Amino acid sequence: MRWLKIKVKVIIESLTSCSGCILTLLSLDVFPQFLERTEITYFPFISDKKEFVKSDIALVEGCVSEASQIETLKTIRKNSVKLCALGTCAAFGGIMGLSKRKKSDPISKFVDVDYVIPGCPPPINLLGNALMDLVENKPIKLPEKNMCYSCPLKGEMKKNLNTPILRLFPQNSKLNSKENEQECFLKRGILCLGPITREGCDHKCIELGIPCEGCLGPVSKDYTSNLINFLSLVPLSNKLKRYSGIFNRFSKPVLKRCS
Ligand code: SF4
Ligand code: SF4
Repeated sequence: MRWLKIKVKVIIESLTSCSGCILTLLSLDVFPQFLERTEITYFPFISDKKEFVKSDIALVEGCVSEASQIETLKTIRKNSVKLCALGTCAAFGGIMGLSKRKKSDPISKFVDVDYVIPGCPPPINLLGNALMDLVENKPIKLPEKNMCYSCPLKGEMKKNLNTPILRLFPQNSKLNSKENEQECFLKRGILCLGPITREGCDHKCIELGIPCEGCLGPVSKDYTSNLINFLSLVPLSNKLKRYSGIFNRFSKPVLKRCS
């Protein structure tokens, strides 16, 4: 008897986004494997199917910035067994939080979300593993420690929190220099959001001399409350305290939280 393998049906949709998460998905080594195991029922990037049909998984990239997207999101929710926020825009609102004119709500404000795959865009290993977990009907597992836990610049955090924070980035001339490169950014007076950010990116920015900006979101609770708690502990300069970009870079405060 010949066994027919039932394929997992998948919806992939983008709301307001830069498409960076979808491009990362398409460029994954495991994407061809993912395609073999799935039947794509909706994905405007590569298919002209126009209707949503009942599916097992929905991956949604981007934040909600227009009223019409709420209806789309609700239709996707009705048609999917598991709904997954793909990337930090969908999970927390994302970079559009910096806009004063546009809204940038996370999808969890309007529909129940089963899983979040964070990152701007999500790191390839984290995304690849999450996709394979989804097609095997396993829960997505995210790292549970913060960025400092495995940081190559790890220092004594309590001492590092005493240094006045005067800058968001190293001066350009020092970006790739060897000077101080072994010291935690906080100890050098540069804001690093590693203490409140989920690990999982192999410290790509830190390895390049750039502090963690928090794109993978918090290890627990919601992004904004974690950020405010952390910023109340570090001695930020008055100038940085007035800079709203620190608070809004990956999220604006929302009523409903991502799990
Ligand atoms: S999370 Fe980042 S990469 Fe993904 S759509 Fe938003 S801005 Fe683009
Ligand atoms: S604060 Fe930043 S540089 Fe310092 S240990 Fe944590 S992640 Fe590393």
